[in-house]
Amino acid sequence: MRAMSRLSSKENVLRRLRPKRRKLLRELGALADGRGMPIYLVGGVVRDLFLRRENWDLDIAVEGDGIAFARLVADRYRAGLAVFERFATARLVLPDGLKLDIASTRRESYAEPAALPAVAPASLKEDLHRRDFTINAMAVQLNAAQFGRLHDPFGGRRDLAAGSIRVLHEDSFLDDPTRIFRAIRFAQRFGFVLERKTQTLLRRAAATNQIERLSGPRLCNEVLSLLAEREPAGSIASLVRLKLLRFLHPRLRYGGRARRLLAALPQALAWWRRQCPDRPVDRPLLYLMALLSTGSPAVVRAVERRLQLSSVQAEAVACAGDRTGRPARVLCRPGDLRPSRVYRLLIGLPDEALVLMLAKVQAAQQGAAGRRVRRRLGRFVKRDRHVAISVNGDDLKQIGLAPGPRFKEILDRLVDARLDGAVKTEAQERDLAREMAASRP
Ligand code: ATP
Repeated sequence: MRAMSRLSSKENVLRRLRPKRRKLLRELGALADGRGMPIYLVGGVVRDLFLRRENWDLDIAVEGDGIAFARLVADRYRAGLAVFERFATARLVLPDGLKLDIASTRRESYAEPAALPAVAPASLKEDLHRRDFTINAMAVQLNAAQFGRLHDPFGGRRDLAAGSIRVLHEDSFLDDPTRIFRAIRFAQRFGFVLERKTQTLLRRAAATNQIERLSGPRLCNEVLSLLAEREPAGSIASLVRLKLLRFLHPRLRYGGRARRLLAALPQALAWWRRQCPDRPVDRPLLYLMALLSTGSPAVVRAVERRLQLSSVQAEAVACAGDRTGRPARVLCRPGDLRPSRVYRLLIGLPDEALVLMLAKVQAAQQGAAGRRVRRRLGRFVKRDRHVAISVNGDDLKQIGLAPGPRFKEILDRLVDARLDGAVKTEAQERDLAREMAASRP
């Protein structure tokens, strides 16, 4: 047996939960007993209990009216409640921050492949059957008389023990092509392999154009979830093997340069964390930037549109190519580079772009150039980007200057002078401002 610990069929897997959560589940079981409702913990959280992996989601399913039950729970615990009628699900946030999803057990049918399914109430077994893989299709009952009883109609535990990812029916990947990405993601995360038939079905589905039918946000969510895993390079290799990058853009390639860049990211990220522990970067977005780093600006823009990235994400992704490549080359240069020059190169770039820049240098050259770039970047992120000057627009007006483009020019020059040590005090700043105001532009 692999990561899954030896758990006898008699042992209650809920014992592995923290006492506080176990107590909550017992109470939910009792509450459901009062309504005569079967209630279960379902899906990924059950899988992770067997694998002894932390999982912060508590997914609950009841056979009956899940939304009514969720309202009852929200009342009892004074929890925040959001209801999604269309999916017969509700999300609760308890006062201590714990999140709980409550749903009615249901079946799903796909009127059109790759679209969102229609849902209808159904038994637990049908609810488990609509799920993606056997390892995600287990439930543990919470009603008092059966607290801890495992429901595993499709052999999820066997597959967990074997390290195997298996779909529940032949059309699974076609019905919902997000499962193609999910399969790759779970295989990578757990070091599992796709069971043979599942592998064939996945290859077949990948060869169709079903993924093209996914909406931008759904595709984006899958891609970023893949890249959020601990070692995204393995998942990207799977995407390449299955020729799935074409769904981002038909001309997107993943060659040696992008691979080396990706391999350099962990070290660049570690450096960033040491320099700026309070400014975490968006790691999946950073990996997406690396993946797009060798794409032309037209390809990058098309990917941005396909994934319907937010404006913040789009701004970062637009820096994947030359907008980080060019400054990186300047930062590598030996000799003097004035801090103001570094500042002008880097100011306004998202943090992700700065990390990518360092990774670009480290992927291309080791040693002295890397050290120079780290020194220059380090000074910028810790000190220079926060530079403040005391002269402002009002002061310039007082000197007798009319507002206009010259204002910005002078203020920028003052910033540069501060950074380069040409002025050190407020008085020197004012003198320089006066001098510049008096001279012709
Ligand atoms: P993660 O640890 O990445 O959150 P998870 O398995 O908990 O993995 P969720 O996306 O939170 O994933 O989904 C919870 C459960 O819902 C899954 O375990 C699975 O049973 C079911 N599920 C989620 N997405 C799908 C899907 N696309 N098709 C079928 N079942 C799904």
